[in-house]
Amino acid sequence: MNSKTLSFQPVSGMQVPRFAGIPTFMRLPHVALEDAHISQVDIGIIGVPWDGGTTNRPGARHGPRQLRDYSTMIRARHPVSGMMPFELRNCADLGDCPVNPADTMDTLARVTDYYKALHNAGVTPLTAGGDHMISLPVLRGLAQGGPLGMIHFDAHTDLFDSYFDGCKFTHGTPFRRAIEEGLLDPKRVVQIGIRGTTYDDSDLIWGRQQGIRIIPIEEVYETGIDAIMHEARAIVGQGPTYVTFDIDSIDPAYAPGTGTPEIGGFTTFEAQKMVRQLDGLNLVGADLVEVSPPFDPTGGTAWVGVSIMFELLCVLAGRQS
Ligand code: MN
Ligand code: MN
Repeated sequence: MNSKTLSFQPVSGMQVPRFAGIPTFMRLPHVALEDAHISQVDIGIIGVPWDGGTTNRPGARHGPRQLRDYSTMIRARHPVSGMMPFELRNCADLGDCPVNPADTMDTLARVTDYYKALHNAGVTPLTAGGDHMISLPVLRGLAQGGPLGMIHFDAHTDLFDSYFDGCKFTHGTPFRRAIEEGLLDPKRVVQIGIRGTTYDDSDLIWGRQQGIRIIPIEEVYETGIDAIMHEARAIVGQGPTYVTFDIDSIDPAYAPGTGTPEIGGFTTFEAQKMVRQLDGLNLVGADLVEVSPPFDPTGGTAWVGVSIMFELLCVLAGRQS
């Protein structure tokens, strides 16, 4: 294939109806990491179909396929900013990252290698999980130039030390590992929407000792979303920053299809407003995790997920660099 002839435009719903055709992410062309066209890709959308870090109800391994299907309903233009991300940046569906469903440590190695190669190819990743453990190897791939800042939307801190007497790699532990490994600068990490019952407060105590700004959802509503996002932007500043969005930050009334739901969460509109306020930050990548299709019989959670992915894509596309 001639590397100059690939169109990075999505298949138009005016040419082929959105329910028809092969469901790539947002109807974009498929470009694999090993293809020559990878050098032309600015933003790659990748699935990581893995849920071996799940401690409760599984199924997020099926997330990427379901999210691809629902993403075909996404159109080209952002309704508020008017941005046309697919005209601003070359975007592509890079397919699914290699995983090993029977081996956590091997999966961590495979995902790390993949994201290192992606980073070296100059591609900014927008990842669809998978459970939240996958953010750890993604960060290993992206933080090669030093620790990153992070804005983290979640009902949970994912800062626990271990599960089941010493298991260090679960979806409840990735950001503790990431800080221990020097992938994140804890003073440039902010967690928004924390709530729900826990076994203890060791996550909060450890996280605050590190300097992480942990914002329970009560504080978000008392302070207001605009002020919280203003603070979050100040915390990460203009240094390189990752965004991770756990679908369970949204109320299970809107997004029940997830393994660890917690009531009292964000509305979908509040989530859109928060992500839109990441515009202009120095973002090195983003992910949307924990959509579990077996708990999503209507498909509504996948639709929320891909809609948030489009918001994330727009703030990635709007970077200055
Ligand atoms: Mn999480
Ligand atoms: Mn969570």
